[in-house]
Parts: sequence; structure tokens; C-alpha cells
Amino acid sequence: MSGLAVFSLKFPSLLKFDEKRNEARIRANLQSLFGVRQAPCDTQLRAVCDQVNPAELRAPFIHINQRLYDHRLLENFRYLEGFLFSINGTGQFASSSVCCPQCCQRHHRNGPIGYYHQLLAAVLVHPDQKQVLPLFPEAITHQDGESKNDCELNASKRLIKQLREAFPNWPIRVVEDSLFANGPHIKLLKELNIGYIISVKPEGQESLFEEVKDRFFKHETEEFEVLGDDKIVRGYRWINEIPLNKSYPDLQVNFLDYWEIRDGKEFIFRGLPRSN
Ligand SMILES: [Zn+2]
Repeated sequence: MSGLAVFSLKFPSLLKFDEKRNEARIRANLQSLFGVRQAPCDTQLRAVCDQVNPAELRAPFIHINQRLYDHRLLENFRYLEGFLFSINGTGQFASSSVCCPQCCQRHHRNGPIGYYHQLLAAVLVHPDQKQVLPLFPEAITHQDGESKNDCELNASKRLIKQLREAFPNWPIRVVEDSLFANGPHIKLLKELNIGYIISVKPEGQESLFEEVKDRFFKHETEEFEVLGDDKIVRGYRWINEIPLNKSYPDLQVNFLDYWEIRDGKEFIFRGLPRSN
């Protein structure tokens, strides 16, 4: 509970918590909110919390979110006939001197070895909702029996399988960045019946953009522009069921291009020229 208090009371570090834990006001909060009469020192807190496998913390995330879902309290988060799970990696720890067996390592030429931990986070989001609801994260840490570093993409394999297992009946659509625009990942999403919105860039997705360009000049893409009340013109172009890339010609994806025109200036975010 003291570990939870560090985050819930928004201490910037464990050290700060250690400095303040015996102040009267903090003691009162620890007692009334967390039932902690005597918070442990930082060494003891580490000794206890370090032993906890992050996966053991999943149950409350699953139970709370499932209850909200069952009581239809997540209806305001429904979007595109489902729920958007935004998935992204974040750094959590980095050091050149402190490390543990689960650390990933970065080897610099002629420099010290960098040790780090990262997390792959999944949160329930909606474009019109200010709040995001955290689902459980997956640790990006050195995996038993692996010689290579763990990475975001590997962790995502574990995370999305576990999300599907935890929420078997939810219509899930993941929102991911271009790192995830690859064949094996999209195949796994399809197998698990998970929809996806993955942003892509021409760099790294050359054959996909070539294909779109080709179809565009053959007039096979569809598009329209609308002028909004805010005087911004928004343009959309799309084509359905085109191959992701040459390595996965059978893997069909839908492609959506979007641009904005403000004060006559054009902001083309992804791909091709406008046709008119
Ligand atoms: Zn470590």
C-alpha cells in the first residue's frame, strides 16, 4: 500500500517519499487513505516491491474495467462500434551503473553499458473524452532464456494476446504507431479478432505507398473534402483491401489518407497530391 501511495500521492521519486513519509500531514494521509500506520524506508520498500511480478498486478485492472463494461458505464467510450485501445511504449528506468537480471542493455561503442526498463502501456481512449482509462501494461524486460533484448514489438505480442484473454468479448480496436505496421503483428491482430488503426509513413512503407499511388493514378481511390465551421478544409482519401507490402501480398489492409487546408495553406500529412 505504501508503494501505491508513492504514485497516488504523486511523489516525484521514491527518495522524496522517503524524506516526507514521517511528516504529520503525509502520515495522516497514509493512515486514512491507505491504512498504513508506519511506511517502510525506501530500502525496505524496494526489497518488498521488487519481488512482485508486474503480471500479479493485473487482476484489479481486469476486474475494475470488466465491471465498468458489464454495467454499461463505458458506453461513452464506444467508438467505431468498439473500444479504442491506444498502445505505446514508454521509458521507465535507465542507468549506466544500477542494473538487475531483467534489465535490457544498450551497448555503446567505447562507452559504458546502458541498462534500461520500458513498459508497453495500453489505455482505453476516445477522441471526445478527456479521461483515458488505463488497462494493464506489459513490462519490456529481459525475458528468461532469450539472448536478445526484449523490445516493444515482442512485448506487444504478449500484451495483445493477454488483453484478448482478459477481455474476451470486447470489440477491441488498437491504435498504434508505424512501428506496428508489419505483417506478423497485423496477422496476430486478425487472428485475435482485434481491429486496428496504425499510422504509417512513406518512409518504411514504400511498397504500400507505391501501391496507393498506383491505384490513385488509375482513379481507384475515393476521396472528398469538407469545409468545417472552423474554416478548416479536411480531406480524406481511401482505398480498401490492398496488400500491406511485398513480403505479405495476401495480407490486405484498408488505407486512409488525411489532410487539412488552413488559410489556404495545405497540410498533407501522409501521402499523395490532392487530385482536382
Ligand atoms: Zn533492471
